[in-house]
Amino acid sequence: MAENIKKPVARPNNKANANKSNMVRSVLFTFVLICFGAFIIASMTQSKTQKTEVPISDVIQRANDPEGNISKITVTGETLDITLKGNDQPTETSRKDSSGTLYDQGLINHCDDMMGDELSDCQEKYPTIEYKEDTNTWGIILDVGLTVLPIIAIVVFLSWMMRQAQSANNQSMSFGKSKARLYGADKKKVTFKDVAGNESAKQDLAEIVDFLKNPKKYEKLGAKIPRGVLLAGDPGTGKTLMARAVAGEADVPFFSISGSEFAEMFVGVGASRVRDLFSKAKKNAPSIIFIDEIDAVAHKRDARGGAGREDEQTLNQILVEMDGFDNDSGVIVIAATNRVDMLDKALLRPGRFDRHVNVTLPERKDRLEILKVHFKGKPVEENVDLEALAKKTAGSSGADLANIANEAAITAAREGHKAISNADLTEAFERVAIGPERKSKVMNDKERKITAYHEAGHAIVGHVLPDSDPVHKVTIIPRGRTGGVTWFLPPEDRSYKSIYELKDILARAMGGRIAEKIIFGKDAVTTGASSDLTNVAELAKSMIIEEGMGEGTRNLVFPSEATGYYTISTGKPYSEKTAELIDAEIKMLSDEAAKRAEEVLKANKAVLDKLAEELLAHETLEEAELEPILKGARIPEIAKLHK
Ligand code: ADP
Ligand code: MG
Ligand code: ZN
Repeated sequence: MAENIKKPVARPNNKANANKSNMVRSVLFTFVLICFGAFIIASMTQSKTQKTEVPISDVIQRANDPEGNISKITVTGETLDITLKGNDQPTETSRKDSSGTLYDQGLINHCDDMMGDELSDCQEKYPTIEYKEDTNTWGIILDVGLTVLPIIAIVVFLSWMMRQAQSANNQSMSFGKSKARLYGADKKKVTFKDVAGNESAKQDLAEIVDFLKNPKKYEKLGAKIPRGVLLAGDPGTGKTLMARAVAGEADVPFFSISGSEFAEMFVGVGASRVRDLFSKAKKNAPSIIFIDEIDAVAHKRDARGGAGREDEQTLNQILVEMDGFDNDSGVIVIAATNRVDMLDKALLRPGRFDRHVNVTLPERKDRLEILKVHFKGKPVEENVDLEALAKKTAGSSGADLANIANEAAITAAREGHKAISNADLTEAFERVAIGPERKSKVMNDKERKITAYHEAGHAIVGHVLPDSDPVHKVTIIPRGRTGGVTWFLPPEDRSYKSIYELKDILARAMGGRIAEKIIFGKDAVTTGASSDLTNVAELAKSMIIEEGMGEGTRNLVFPSEATGYYTISTGKPYSEKTAELIDAEIKMLSDEAAKRAEEVLKANKAVLDKLAEELLAHETLEEAELEPILKGARIPEIAKLHK
């Protein structure tokens, strides 16, 4: 979701800055102009000094003398350029007398009307007289133009350079300034009303707002006002939204910066931005600083193999600033992160981010509230069932739900509906979860048959195993990158999953490929199961290394790279032998899952055929249509994990 555009904070320093560089600029410009002028004058006087000015009477006398030294006279308007015999460029110049024409004054072309030898004879003695059109002014313009053009180019280039330098200057001036923005009063305020659910987090934050509004109340009782509040929770759970709501509620200046913005800075700039941010906030106290996505700068200092020296400086500066707060500084720092486990422990010590507010994935009733917020103002059909959608969307974040609401509106518009219907909701939900339907993707009969058995396999294994969620819907219409989809939906939200549930999930994920194997033979392995197998591998791995669910490693967990406990450079903090054990445990889980799926499908071959057949006929089967088909399926003794 797009964040509101935030109003930049006025930077008083910039004005002085601009004045200064304006001055520098005009001085430079004057300098260039002087150079330019000097150049013109020089080139003009140069042409003057090159030619000697002689009196017109002298020119005429020599021109009429067969022994005279002039070979050519070029007359341009009032100016005569005189080329001497033996030269090819004029070296003398003269001006016409004001009285009468040059002819009147005696400048005659002696060789007029002559031809052949006679002409060349004559030309040896007398000058050739050429009358040029008076292009004098144009000539000058052309001359000057030719001289000036490169200069103009240079000047343009120089001023471009200066502007570049200046903006680079400005940029580097602002490098050290935090990009922190103040939430403008002109922007639509976000308040706690816009944040649905998450009551306890809202309460915690409301308390912070109260601290800022009535510090006396707390000081009187000797309570220390918290300095740092850490909002922790999964992506899209509304942390940023909540911080903005705090800004809207608190009515104090709210400076916000995102951790990722530090990443784009030059060396040493991050720390100075932090300094600037905090000094601004202190000047405007009481105020709030919000550092979004703080994990971008504040990850464990040892967890990145020394790659993050710059981040380290930024982080250190944050710590220094927070330690430097007086008790009554009136500045509260709120930070948000998706990864508390990745944060440097130093940030979490008392006096820093010692208050934690957990923002969790919404429960069913919160999901309904969030959906209501996002469907507010959108036209919906009367029978639209947001509760059903809230029920279906276990595990979705607020951002996912906002996304579904938006997709539903788009779908309705695309379908030409006047209001959003239940069908639009379903399409939006599936689209957001898996990707758009691709009805246009052509599958040949063989592919359709494989897909039908594959999905039927998932559905039957999932249906039969006692700890799996019920099957909600099966389709062989391609969606997103998958050929078909089998949906399982939990009847209610659960916070914990048992090892039985997880093993049933592994088995039903295997159900697709195993069904293909049973029907088309064990060599007919298709690529249709790769995402199933990836899911199996990931779930099995986390069961072993995170949940202590291994057969031979029960209750043991293993540090993982993904959670930042070690890096490639530091290596695994356990032996090769342990690594082998982990791999063996993971393989055991996936083998067991495949075995159970196979037993279930072999025992229910008739149901498998029937379901595949129905899928080929109808493409999509909903819960009610699945019921009669799946009713006959039984779990074989061998696939049972418990009584
Ligand atoms: P986070 O910062 O935790 O990743 P955001 O605050 O950016 O998540 O949430 C993204 C969007 O999801 C919000 O702009 C809002 O539209 C929607 N959203 C998330 N949580 C809620 C909620 N509790 N109530 C209403 N909308 C929410
Ligand atoms: Mg966020
Ligand atoms: Zn599958």
